[in-house]
Amino acid sequence: MAAQETDDHKYVYDFSEGNKDLKDLLGGKGANLAEMTNLGLPVPPGFTITTEACQAYLATGREPDGLAGQIEAHLQALEREMGKRLGDPGDPLLVSVRSGAKFSMPGMMETVLNVGLNDQSVVGLAAQAGQNDRFAWDSYRRLIQMFGKTVCEVPGEEFEHALDEVKSARGTQNDLDLDADDLRGLVDAYKKIFVKHTGREFPQQPREQLDLAIRAVFESWNAERAVLYRRQERIPADLGTAVNVVTMVFGNLGPDSGTGVAFTRDPGSGAQGIYGDYLANAQGEDVVAGIRNTVPLQELERLDKSSYDELLSIMARLEEHYRDLCDIEFTIERGKLWMLQTRVGKRTAAAAFVIAGQLVDEGLIDEDEALHRVNGAQLAQLMFPRFELDHEFEAVATGIGASPGAASGAVVFTSARAVELAAEGKSVILVRRETNPDDLNGMIAAQGILTSRGGKTSHAAVVARGMGKTCVSGADEIDVNVPAKRFTVAGRTVTEGDVVSIDGTTGKVYLGEVPVMPSEVVQYFEGSLDAEHVDNPLVRAVHRIMTHADGKRRLTVRTNADTGADAARARRFGAEGIGLCRTEHMFLGDRRELVERLILARAPGEREAALAALLPLQRADFEEIFREMDGLPVTVRLIDPPLHEFLPPLEQLAVNVAVAQERGEDVAKEEALLAAVRRMHEENPMLGLRGVRLGLVIPGLFAMQVRAIAEAAVAVVRAGGVARPEIMVPLVGAVQELETVRAEAEKIIAEVVGDSGVEVLIGTMIEVPRAALTAGQIAEAAEFFSFGTNDLTQMGWGFSRDDVEGAFFWRYLELGIFGISPFESIDRDGVGRLIRIAAEEGRAARPGLKLGICGEHGGDPDSVHFFHEVGLDYVSCSPFRVPVARLEAGRAAVETDGSDSR
Ligand code: ADP
Ligand code: MG
Ligand code: MG
Repeated sequence: MAAQETDDHKYVYDFSEGNKDLKDLLGGKGANLAEMTNLGLPVPPGFTITTEACQAYLATGREPDGLAGQIEAHLQALEREMGKRLGDPGDPLLVSVRSGAKFSMPGMMETVLNVGLNDQSVVGLAAQAGQNDRFAWDSYRRLIQMFGKTVCEVPGEEFEHALDEVKSARGTQNDLDLDADDLRGLVDAYKKIFVKHTGREFPQQPREQLDLAIRAVFESWNAERAVLYRRQERIPADLGTAVNVVTMVFGNLGPDSGTGVAFTRDPGSGAQGIYGDYLANAQGEDVVAGIRNTVPLQELERLDKSSYDELLSIMARLEEHYRDLCDIEFTIERGKLWMLQTRVGKRTAAAAFVIAGQLVDEGLIDEDEALHRVNGAQLAQLMFPRFELDHEFEAVATGIGASPGAASGAVVFTSARAVELAAEGKSVILVRRETNPDDLNGMIAAQGILTSRGGKTSHAAVVARGMGKTCVSGADEIDVNVPAKRFTVAGRTVTEGDVVSIDGTTGKVYLGEVPVMPSEVVQYFEGSLDAEHVDNPLVRAVHRIMTHADGKRRLTVRTNADTGADAARARRFGAEGIGLCRTEHMFLGDRRELVERLILARAPGEREAALAALLPLQRADFEEIFREMDGLPVTVRLIDPPLHEFLPPLEQLAVNVAVAQERGEDVAKEEALLAAVRRMHEENPMLGLRGVRLGLVIPGLFAMQVRAIAEAAVAVVRAGGVARPEIMVPLVGAVQELETVRAEAEKIIAEVVGDSGVEVLIGTMIEVPRAALTAGQIAEAAEFFSFGTNDLTQMGWGFSRDDVEGAFFWRYLELGIFGISPFESIDRDGVGRLIRIAAEEGRAARPGLKLGICGEHGGDPDSVHFFHEVGLDYVSCSPFRVPVARLEAGRAAVETDGSDSR
């Protein structure tokens, strides 16, 4: 029964049977070949063997039952259609065998062209091509070369070497100068190479060639390169690849033939126009291999006007059909145009915005769809300064763009040296083969990090992203020699102190200092470029799409800001309030003195005096922020960190005391501080006396802050402004904690506010797992919740962020324990579940409870979608991330189908 089912299972689809939505089954290439066939475009006939056949082959090590018969049936149909038989000695049908997975994978097997040629059919091919021997032998030698390399793993250099020998014997550099005899000789040489490496003759049976090539494509799915690429790009390992068998058309039949690639718009800038390369008298691989110089596609107009016009009309048709930028591969055989591939083309972040805007103008997509065509990661990229590469700079190596940004600096090879030079005010690039936890200080000190090994999840990459530092990883053209303090690349040696520049977006590495350009998109957000008037297509597109996102989003976007200056900047970026104003910085600088007095207070009245001195300072801080926010809500968090963080470190105090004693100075204060530090020492400060616990233990501390907030609000209102303060109590785990703080705060607020009309909300952070789990109770005492996702992640996972990111996260990522750091993107299943529970139970207890998030996740694209789904009212993030959050909140709101623009 089961065997019966497998026999019946359909493994092979004619191009006329598929369509573009069958990428899972037919792979991208096959699905799009089918789509073009159905559109009536000139596609050479052929068929696709499904990814399911590949999966079955990989699972069992043999072709599934029924596959061979189905291939035979489709091949016969193809032969009937073409009126030729595969490898027929008189007039051979030839095919290409092409891999094609759901996602385009550059690491996969290359294509085998001209399958079906052998010692007999090569003669028939020549005859059919009008006694064109040269063409036939050129095609045959290509088959042996590609088949040998990709199917039988014969080292490619051997073939290239043999070709070079024939060329130098002929005194030429150009393949086209070789005549039929040269190429016949080359076929003999290639066959010998084949025998030497495989222990067998080059297979003469056309069907055997075909079967071996198909099997090799299946197996290429698990080739090392492919596995590595998938892991890096997070492509599932079990998809398998499809195999396309396509009737050959010939671009190498003479000067009226050729092959090329094209984009329907510029994938770099998005500009409209014709972008592509053409190579006359060549087969496809020559274009990519860069053996001969291609000409710009526009040249084709002169060479073959009718093919050119047809190509342009097909490109327009494809754009209209796919409603997007397409890239295509084509071949012209004696004046007849053939389409060999198309797909929605990759593009830069800038092009993504520009093209989305253009497509709306052209009426191909609506503005909701335009929102789907871009994403926050692309917008974030556009907000980094970038290299100005107009002139002589050429990349010497390309690695993985592991953490975006543009950085230049002197090369250093050790963490210690990085720290030294940075202390002298130099900007440095730390270069390592790979980094490890010992390099942490150097990474902090460096402007950028460059490694020759490792991917997007290597230690260097993970840590750099965590720090927001530019990083290029896995630039394997670079040979790093740390003991000798140098690296070599492209035949050049770079020693310590030489300047290099790295682009963490493109992964490119340059020698010397490349000038850096500010981001136009940031200038636009800051208001120095006016989108309505500037003639900059990117700025106009960003403006248009952002405006639409703002119109659609349900989430409000606030910012985390502690000063008036931050608040002002964030407002220019579109922030609609402050979601997190930390008060701890207000205890630093020249106010430390007062904090020390507060901590050391023993005698009655000392603490009160210190607090009384702090009060006006705090009030001034808040007034400035309320004024800046001009009536937008401002969430102020009461002091959160353990107070010993405000004291000097133990070692330093111990030294101070010793030195002062030595000199016979008065050490009473130093000794008191030292004693306080000892007394207050905590094994786990993150879990110690901080947050609401401070407020409950230190009399008057929270009261002073509450009073300062209320007085500041009243002062602003009395001066004719509007202030909307929201007091946020950190680290609450039980409703009783909040109730205690609340009772005291309400008394003070009532007293200060009087009849001024100021309204002060009191709410809490939800950042301790217990708070999330008892949210129903806590909501009784809270007018709002703000999820502190950093702490919630730390405590939910039991991870001390500062310790784990550098120490072992790279290993967790490598093992696939998580796909992305839970500090970068919210862990939906665990931490996200806590948020869901708290949101539901909080709102059940208090309908209309205001819900928000403050924490870095507020600016993470994927997390913003989650917060939208869970029904929060706002997200709050750093000023720079505000535009990203606005865009993603808009995208989340128009999310309808599964289309994604990643
Ligand atoms: P890749 O995925 O690396 O682009 P392809 O399968 O597209 O590999 O093949 C590479 C090139 O080989 C194509 O761009 C095309 O020029 C050439 N090619 C593939 N199939 C045929 C065919 N049936 N006739 C002529 N050229 C072909
Ligand atoms: Mg390929
Ligand atoms: Mg291709």
